[in-house]
Amino acid sequence: MTTPIATGNLFILAAPSGAGKSSLIRALLARHTEESMQVSVSCTTRAPRPGEIDGVHYHFLTETQFKEKIDKNDFYEWAHVFGNYYGTSRSYIEQTLAQGIDVFLDIDWQGARQVREAHAQAQSIFIVPPSLEILEERLRSRGQDSDEVIRSRMEKAHAEMSHYHEFDYLLVNDKFDQTLAQLEHIVFAQRLKVALQQVRHAAKLKDLLANGG
Ligand code: GDP
Ligand code: ADP
Ligand code: 5GP
Repeated sequence: MTTPIATGNLFILAAPSGAGKSSLIRALLARHTEESMQVSVSCTTRAPRPGEIDGVHYHFLTETQFKEKIDKNDFYEWAHVFGNYYGTSRSYIEQTLAQGIDVFLDIDWQGARQVREAHAQAQSIFIVPPSLEILEERLRSRGQDSDEVIRSRMEKAHAEMSHYHEFDYLLVNDKFDQTLAQLEHIVFAQRLKVALQQVRHAAKLKDLLANGG
């Protein structure tokens, strides 16, 4: 089923781990209401990091539970990332967009590809750090991953970043507030697209064009 046009907008955010995706989405949501935008809480088989809450940061599942959901077609997209499974709930996405709420997906490039195929109107945004040195510093300052995990994520950063050109927008997350403003501009511009505005303002446009010519 293709999603009708007058629904919420779907935004895909991807970036190498540590580039700032989660912080940017969190800050953007803090400026808006739950009725206007939300972030999809993914399912994952990775272990929770200190402070991560089940149902808030992720739905933490066992591999068996995750595979059952794959078999039931419960995922809008899913991928194997850094040795763990990650997936987006199909029912959550469909229900939330149908309520006219914009949804953010914090997913990897493999998931982004699947979402673009399922939902051609999805807007995809790639975030890069100002440099590899800064990326590593951010991963360390987050203080949540071991040296080994950080090393492995730095190695994978190159592979993730090599997909930047598949995206609609590219943001360099140097000054946080500036990147946040850029992200917000993308959302605001998307909401003003003719395809959406003509549905939202159908009656007005009908009036405006009624006696023309
Ligand atoms: P079950 O619902 O008893 O099969 O247990 P699960 O572990 O599969 O799901 C736990 C909760 O997470 C339920 O409330 C699900 O609706 C919800 N849930 C499962 N997957 C997702 C997801 O990808 N995104 C969101 N937002 N919710 C999910
Ligand atoms: P991701 O979700 O992409 O893995 P996070 O949002 O967890 O990344 O960010 C990684 C770390 O970098 C966090 O500690 C965050 O506070 C910090 N950070 C994010 N953006 C910036 C920025 N523009 N300047 C400085 N630190 C940042
Ligand atoms: P982290 O463990 O740092 O939260 O996420 C690791 C990687 O998995 C990131 O690249 C993130 O974008 C990706 N990821 C998180 N959730 C999902 C998801 O639901 N689907 C897919 N495909 N990737 C995800």
